[in-house]
Amino acid sequence: MASEGSKRILIVEDEPDIVRGLKDALTFEGFTVEARGTGAEGLSAAADWQPDLVLLDLMLPDDNGYRVCEALRARDPAVPIIILTAKAQEADKVRGLDAGADDYVTKPFSVAELIARINAIFRRQSRMAASDETFAIGPWTVNARKHTITRGRQSKRLTFYELEVLKLLRERADEAVSREELLDKVWGVSAASTNRTVDNFIVKLRRKLEEDQKNPRHILTVYGLGYKLVP
Ligand code: CA
Repeated sequence: MASEGSKRILIVEDEPDIVRGLKDALTFEGFTVEARGTGAEGLSAAADWQPDLVLLDLMLPDDNGYRVCEALRARDPAVPIIILTAKAQEADKVRGLDAGADDYVTKPFSVAELIARINAIFRRQSRMAASDETFAIGPWTVNARKHTITRGRQSKRLTFYELEVLKLLRERADEAVSREELLDKVWGVSAASTNRTVDNFIVKLRRKLEEDQKNPRHILTVYGLGYKLVP
């Protein structure tokens, strides 16, 4: 366990300029930072050092970043993994999220925005102790510790933000929660400062949870307001 206020961030990235910039900025923010330049070194550092969050480049000299992501995820179902990618293709982002990443930033990225997202992740995590570990939505059981939803033998992984959206909707079950509130409480940003929409995450959650995405029964749109969860 890292001491409070000194979260550990592991950077797995081989581009020296990016490593230097990130290391300086994150250290200045009060994080403890380690950096490794290959997938093998990154995995070994993750095992030895138990970081609180991983920033992972997809294009590493020795290994495919997706494989590193899967290996990190297999070790620890909950550690937030943010992919750093020069690939702007939607398919690569989807593949990264499928490999167990929680989020991605596309190079060149704003360090300030990345830090804001990291801080929001840690803020939400510190609230997690207060929330239930498992809860039901229709036929699914959500496990907040394992980041999974299960139904019989079927199990799907939720990314960090998918889970956080679901938890916030669940805290306010049967009430409408506005997009602005979701952005503010989950991402810690105002609607104007981000290009990612809450709607995209709702689509992903419906894909995982709903029998019929066109006629959702659990994650409902409240026109003009936002969304509400009907467990
Ligand atoms: Ca690289």
